Amino acid sequence: MLLKCAAVLGSPSPFAQCVVFGWCLSSRELWAASQGPCVLCSDHYLLSGQLDMEGALTARDRVGIQDFVLLDETTEAAFLTNLKKRFSKDLIYTYVGTLIVSVNPYKELDIYNKKQMDTYMGVNFFELPPHIYALADNAYHTMLTEFNNHFILISGESGAGKTEASKKILQYYAVSCPSTTLLNTVRDKMLMSNPVLEAFGNAKTLKNDNSSRFGKYMDIQFNSEGDAVGGHILNYLLEKSRVVHQNHGERNFHIFYQLVEGGADDLLRQLGLERDVQHYNYLTQVCGECAIVSSINDRNDWKTVKNALQVINFDEINTNHLFGIVASVLHLGNIQFDSDSKGHLSMFEIQLWCCLTVKVLTPFTIDHAIYARDALAKAIYGQTFTWLVNRINESMENKDPSRKTVIGLLDIYGFEVFYVNSFEQFCINYCNEKLQQLFIQLTLKAEQDEYEAENIEWEPVQFFNNKIICDLVEEKHRGIISILDEECLRPGDATDLTFLERLEDKMGNHPHFVTHKLADKMTRKTLERGDFRLLHYAGEVTYCVVGFLDKNNDLLYRNIKDVATHFKSSLLKLTEILMAKEAWYIRCLKSNESKQPGQFDEALIRHQVKYLGLMEHLRVRRAGFAYRRKFDVFLKRYKPLCPATWPHWRGEPADGVEVLVQHLGYLPHEYKMGRTKIFIRHPRTLYATEDAYEKC
Ligand code: ADP
Ligand code: MG
Repeated sequence: MLLKCAAVLGSPSPFAQCVVFGWCLSSRELWAASQGPCVLCSDHYLLSGQLDMEGALTARDRVGIQDFVLLDETTEAAFLTNLKKRFSKDLIYTYVGTLIVSVNPYKELDIYNKKQMDTYMGVNFFELPPHIYALADNAYHTMLTEFNNHFILISGESGAGKTEASKKILQYYAVSCPSTTLLNTVRDKMLMSNPVLEAFGNAKTLKNDNSSRFGKYMDIQFNSEGDAVGGHILNYLLEKSRVVHQNHGERNFHIFYQLVEGGADDLLRQLGLERDVQHYNYLTQVCGECAIVSSINDRNDWKTVKNALQVINFDEINTNHLFGIVASVLHLGNIQFDSDSKGHLSMFEIQLWCCLTVKVLTPFTIDHAIYARDALAKAIYGQTFTWLVNRINESMENKDPSRKTVIGLLDIYGFEVFYVNSFEQFCINYCNEKLQQLFIQLTLKAEQDEYEAENIEWEPVQFFNNKIICDLVEEKHRGIISILDEECLRPGDATDLTFLERLEDKMGNHPHFVTHKLADKMTRKTLERGDFRLLHYAGEVTYCVVGFLDKNNDLLYRNIKDVATHFKSSLLKLTEILMAKEAWYIRCLKSNESKQPGQFDEALIRHQVKYLGLMEHLRVRRAGFAYRRKFDVFLKRYKPLCPATWPHWRGEPADGVEVLVQHLGYLPHEYKMGRTKIFIRHPRTLYATEDAYEKC
């Protein structure tokens, strides 16, 4: 018999797109079981003994395996070999079931065009090569058929490709979903919110030339026809300290350079700005040499931002206000304090100078005044950012009163380790611990708990649960954040060092906490006196306590109980928002530290594969069942497919499901009956049922 799928081995073939075939063949297990329908695309038939095995192996050797679940061995070495093989062919996406592993190519790939979008639209997940469009499309169609909410969690360390992935998904929704002229404006606004928020919230760091210095969660709201009708953004902890200080080799937020480089002469004159970034302390004080970055074109970006502001309803007055504020921050940074400063200042600056140097008749010292100036600059910028997000939200507000569902996109700063790590890295890394905890809860733990609860035979998979580190940071009264808040509230002589002493007292014995007193003993690495080290799930990070109290205890807003605590509660809220939705995951891996195309740094990637828990996830997925449905839900939807269950099944739902799936020809290994749910091993089985349902 002619094998339909086999045609794919010889190019050209009518199934040239069906790379699935190479994928089927690449698994020996599946090969052995390949009599009958193709396991992955039920349209095609495989018959063992008639296939060109050599060709099949060549296909596997050529592009690797597209789903790690089908890997011969679940070893780390096999995982990395497959990833490397695919990366060398510019195949940056690979599945673990429905999770996507993405490796940053650091070069433009021609895989994000309209044609590609069309190719992936409405196609079953496993029928085409892995792509984030497939995931975006699957989430979208599941949302429409099941009328429920979803979120896509994009994680990985700084520079791994999270923001790029989230932009590509947003573009996919904006371009591919059905549209009416009216709704197009909502989409444009969603798309255009990106360059604006990036200008104000992203900066060049050592890890990434366009590093997000804030966390972003965006809900895209769809009506029941699948139209994108609105959007809403929640932002998290902007790294305000960057406004007044940047580490060596880093920059301030992009918008400052864009304005100075790209702003029209008239505008600069109006704002009293020089066209020279070197003129501004906040832009050059530490790293004048990196104001120009080869991968960034500030002038072009300025044009994009100005255009984007128009799309999100900023009129001329608002736009001028916005740039006025940006300029005022630059002016503020240039104010110097010495005994005769007043002689050089304008009236406005004298007033400001008085505010900053005199506090209720008590003159500040020069250090105090500089400190107050910087605090003001940070506060102005932080408030402006919040205002901007609010304005964007107003412009994207859903005006359609009908019931809607959402797909949330979470792109939050990745795990960070610098030479010197401060309060900001502490918050960022804590946030990543929380997201890893969420991932564990929603995948590894939940999966195993469910098998147990449903009495499904199961061999438990061991995994590292980072809850212990989350507790260390956030536990009430005992965690690092609580101790920090207490120290901020303590009247009198609290300092960064007294905070550290209290940490040492309380945390001394914790297996994930190290101070200089314990450093040698535990890790054989010394620590400076003002440092403490946390053993995070993603690696160890040494934090310098200098500035912890200050940053937690914002000078201008002494609602002290609120700062890291505020962050803690907003993360808790985010977790609740996400837990109520169906989750999809993109795990981004950084291919190398030098941002070079084509470089696959095996050690670096192995480390990420390890801490992201990808091997554990793979083991759980491989042993597991892709889909599960409550008996009554399953029966209610598919009962028209079987005369015995249609229109009514009078007995127990579980029995009805059994009758139904027997009628549909499910094989014993394809499904299992739990206590309350049917478990389906591979999505293909459900797709076939769904297709039959559509036809009937
Ligand atoms: P993250 O948000 O994880 O810190 P980004 O998404 O900003 O990282 O990616 C860092 C840089 O890597 C981008 O500016 C871009 O140059 C490159 N990059 C990331 N993803 C891709 C991709 N899919 N294709 C091409 N380049 C990419
Ligand atoms: Mg980012």
